[in-house]
Amino acid sequence: MGSNRITNIEIDSDKNVIQESTWGKKELAEYKVDLLKLCGFGCTYCSSNGGMHISMQLQTISDAFTEAKGKKFDRYDVGDIVITLKGVLDTLQRQLDDRRRPWGKGKTLAFCQLTDGFSPHLLRTGTTRRALEMLIDRTEFRIRVLTKSAIVGRPEWIRFFSDHADRFVVGLSIGSLNDIWARCVERLTSVPTSRVKALHALQDAGIPTYGMLCPMFPEVLDGDHIERLMEAIRPDLCEHVWAEPFNDRDNWEYVRKCYFEGSTMWNWMTDVYENGRQDLWSDYATALYQRLKSKAASDGWMKKLRYLLYEDGIVASDAAAFEGLDGVLLQSKPRLDGRSRNKAIAALQ
Ligand code: SF4
Repeated sequence: MGSNRITNIEIDSDKNVIQESTWGKKELAEYKVDLLKLCGFGCTYCSSNGGMHISMQLQTISDAFTEAKGKKFDRYDVGDIVITLKGVLDTLQRQLDDRRRPWGKGKTLAFCQLTDGFSPHLLRTGTTRRALEMLIDRTEFRIRVLTKSAIVGRPEWIRFFSDHADRFVVGLSIGSLNDIWARCVERLTSVPTSRVKALHALQDAGIPTYGMLCPMFPEVLDGDHIERLMEAIRPDLCEHVWAEPFNDRDNWEYVRKCYFEGSTMWNWMTDVYENGRQDLWSDYATALYQRLKSKAASDGWMKKLRYLLYEDGIVASDAAAFEGLDGVLLQSKPRLDGRSRNKAIAALQ
């Protein structure tokens, strides 16, 4: 996975490694751990690079980046770097030592939320394994592994998860079955077909798994791609299936660069984000939901579906498709009374 080409930039660790998660609304986790500041996998659509954890240390990161690479830091175009955290395992140890009472019973901890806990640097240094052992020994959290690395399907990791099967649920985010597309957009991760194989290996070993069809770009609506994608993750063996369209985090121009100018996707991104055609994004997010819902209903896993929808992007003419909001988790900031700010969606609540 190209780890040799990656420049390691080290900055100070945050005060606490285990933190409250913002993924409660997504029903994914109440707590989270991140062992890196910036993931070395370099997905162009990554929503993390625009996050607060980068903003709050932007100057430090920019300075360290410029010193290492001799150029200006662009948070959306970082190239082949990983930003590691000095003494992250010591910080985790200290945090666990400071807890007097057992921690995490009945709660889920995301491993990881803003970065990938199975990125090559962490694996090479043994940080992933050591952190997981500490979390197993010193907490009672159920650990939700989320990764784009197929390494979790290798025998040594299967054995590790099997030895603690009551503590883990493992997911690989897979938004497409197209390996060629992925090589351009998710530059250094395992390719989707390897991730599917890894998921199957975990499922065949009886390890709890979940589906993470995120993000799905409009191309999956072509032909039966999205149906094949759903079948590939074997929803009957998943605890739940999350799914999400692409949501722009001020990085659409970087994602568009992955497509040939004038191609269908290049034009789509230009229309939606440069020309403000919100209706096109709404049509796509609605079509994704309809196809997911139809397949989930006919194959009997509707109760497992968790469609993450920033509903402020849905136009009134599409809202009726979400009638009943079955399997939909609304993600936009609500009104004070808890209802959606999108009047057409609020009418369905
Ligand atoms: S693997 Fe996840 S955290 Fe890492 S760059 Fe890709 S989307 Fe971002």
